[in-house]
Amino acid sequence: MSEKPDVAVIGAGVFGAWTALQLRRTGRSVVLVDAFGTGNSRSSSSGASRVLRVGYGSQTFYSRWSQRSAYAWNELLRDWRPDLFTRTGVLWMARGDDTSLAETADTLALLHTPCELLDRDALEQRFPRFTFGPITHGLLEPDAGVINARRAVQAVVRQAVKQSVDYRVASVSPPHGTTRVDTLATTGGDIVAGTYVFACGAWLPKLFPTLLGARLYPTRQEVFFFGAKPGDREFSPPLMPAWIDFAGGVYGLPDLEGRGFKIGLDHHGPPFDPDRGDRLASNDALQVARMILARRLPSLQDAPLLEARVCAYSNSWNGDFLIDRHPELENVWLVGGGSGHGFKHGPAVGEYVADQLSGRDEPETRFTLAQHGAHERQERRVF
Ligand SMILES: Cc1cc2nc3c(=O)[nH]c(=O)nc-3n(C[C@H](O)[C@H](O)[C@H](O)COP(=O)(O)OP(=O)(O)OC[C@H]3O[C@@H](n4cnc5c(N)ncnc54)[C@H](O)[C@@H]3O)c2cc1C
Repeated sequence: MSEKPDVAVIGAGVFGAWTALQLRRTGRSVVLVDAFGTGNSRSSSSGASRVLRVGYGSQTFYSRWSQRSAYAWNELLRDWRPDLFTRTGVLWMARGDDTSLAETADTLALLHTPCELLDRDALEQRFPRFTFGPITHGLLEPDAGVINARRAVQAVVRQAVKQSVDYRVASVSPPHGTTRVDTLATTGGDIVAGTYVFACGAWLPKLFPTLLGARLYPTRQEVFFFGAKPGDREFSPPLMPAWIDFAGGVYGLPDLEGRGFKIGLDHHGPPFDPDRGDRLASNDALQVARMILARRLPSLQDAPLLEARVCAYSNSWNGDFLIDRHPELENVWLVGGGSGHGFKHGPAVGEYVADQLSGRDEPETRFTLAQHGAHERQERRVF
């Protein structure tokens, strides 16, 4: 590593880790810094499980990114950690005149990604453990699945280190400068680099409060793991897929590694401070998760709670990522706004940032600071 690396990437979550790796692949010298270490429990990239899917309603852009990223994930994990991805399939659920599944099917057909539209009868036949209630139709994406997020992001950093990325554990102070940043102060000494990429997840608005305080909204999100009866394999793959009910604000993942059947509450929770917010799940959210089990998977309604986790979504106003150059500091880039769906896109985010730094590609309007100006917040839908 040269005295002055070309790029310092701050934050070794999935966005920063892949950015460091993709930058290195383009020949740049890179230092990657994380305050608590990659995959730490405060980061959003630390969970046991994240869904990788291609479907995104009519949003072909994100479907293409997902597909590209899936190849990159597969390439990275194939040889030495294939166990980190489980092909569970993903079952989307919708009700009444919701057209998002038909739109998803069209996009998936365009991208040659297999999927199957299912009416209510087909749903009941294929997934007898579910009580579908108001759900009228579904879409199964059979090649989608679940990745072990913490281990996978750590694998990305290991790969980056193998390729000579200088990885350090240190906390970075907010940057100072008038037109550019020369030196970055950290708890492990100063860093001097050509360009600084801040990929700090829910911490971004704390590091750049004036610029990002009204653009990114970290929220508290809760997930619960419930235990099936002894010997019952019906809540594990291949019998149980991952499933998503966007309108109901809930998703579920099969039991992987014996951790339990996961219920995730997707509606945005209250504002959350990633440093100070405590991570004890609330009883209210647990009752909601139990109510969902009782309605959807009644045989689990009295299942014991095995584990609960609190994690932060770093939401933009509409679910689009925020990736742009700082408006005043010409050698500072901001990468964040994962908004509860960013994990799968790590490889594409890293590739995009590397291209932007080379000036090779036009910026994607949806990611710009201008696009993330003053807007009324929306709950994500098919994100
Ligand atoms: C419960 C839950 C479920 C989710 N499910 C899915 C899913 O199924 N599929 C999907 O694709 N996505 C999912 N997501 C979203 C996805 O996990 C996030 O979008 C993604 O992990 C964000 O990554 P990040 O790199 O931006 O942030 P993070 O992973 O939070 O990484 C930021 C890093 O920056 C470091 N950092 C912060 N400040 C500093 C500093 N001053 N100095 C040095 N380092 C610093 C932190 O330590 C941290 O490691 C989910 C998120 C949650 C919370």
